[in-house]
Amino acid sequence: MIDLHCHSQYSDGILSVEDLYQKALDNHISLLALTDHDTVAGVGKLMALAQNGPVKIIPAIELSVRWKTKDIHIVGLNIDMGSDALTHLIAEQKQQRLIRAQTIAEKLERLGIERVWDKVCKIAGHEHIARPHFAKLLVDEGKVKDLQKAFTQFLGRGRQAFVPTIWSSVSEAVSTIRVAGGLPVIAHPLKYTLTNTKLHELIRTFKEAGGVGIEVVSGETSPQDILNIAKISLQHQLLASTGSDFHGGQYSRVDLGKQRSLPDICEPIWTAF
Ligand code: AMP
Ligand code: MN
Ligand code: MN
Ligand code: MN
Repeated sequence: MIDLHCHSQYSDGILSVEDLYQKALDNHISLLALTDHDTVAGVGKLMALAQNGPVKIIPAIELSVRWKTKDIHIVGLNIDMGSDALTHLIAEQKQQRLIRAQTIAEKLERLGIERVWDKVCKIAGHEHIARPHFAKLLVDEGKVKDLQKAFTQFLGRGRQAFVPTIWSSVSEAVSTIRVAGGLPVIAHPLKYTLTNTKLHELIRTFKEAGGVGIEVVSGETSPQDILNIAKISLQHQLLASTGSDFHGGQYSRVDLGKQRSLPDICEPIWTAF
């Protein structure tokens, strides 16, 4: 089983790196990439745990970028974590994430929740706050009944506690991943509610910057959608990636490595590692 997209507690995942590794063993994963949002903080620990074991770890990250009005996610696979360019980009993204989180916290305080910053840092276990941490807070405070509602009523684009983030661009993220020796991959291409025309435009921009892959299978992608993205990957000569986007807990309907298989027509990205 191969899983090239999942999360740990170092971003918005529920599991510690130790528990994630145990799950990789239990689920017989042979190749695993931990792709926390805008951080590689957990990768070193995962590689140390997996040393001499049956799970091969690919150092990776999921970078947030802004493209037109959309937040797009670009996975970088097989990166050199010591790369200066990557370290610099991660530091910038971390700063933007922090600024956004503090602004969201202020907005939620105005909506009547007390000590938001302390509470959300406690939920996350760190200051690398992602919106799911605020979603959990909104549920805990009784403002919404589930995490999904926290996004539709407060945290999603245009809602009361939405704060746009100044993420890097597609071309900056893609070229930085390349400089770090990695393979840039468009994550979950159907999650952005793009028209077909816009998706092809995104792919062209991504390819011009040096992008090489696309997630043909991500989480719950349906067989029909898998086939459609597979065709797009062939049309644009993109390598095919696959991942569960496992976060643990209520977020993940697909367990680690349990996403559907890549169609045979695809060129798997791990042939390029
Ligand atoms: P952030 O990087 O802080 O913008 O948080 C993005 C993360 O929030 C994504 O990776 C998902 O895990 C989660 N997310 C985004 N939109 C939704 C949604 N509508 N419902 C549930 N989770 C979401
Ligand atoms: Mn996430
Ligand atoms: Mn994502
Ligand atoms: Mn993800």
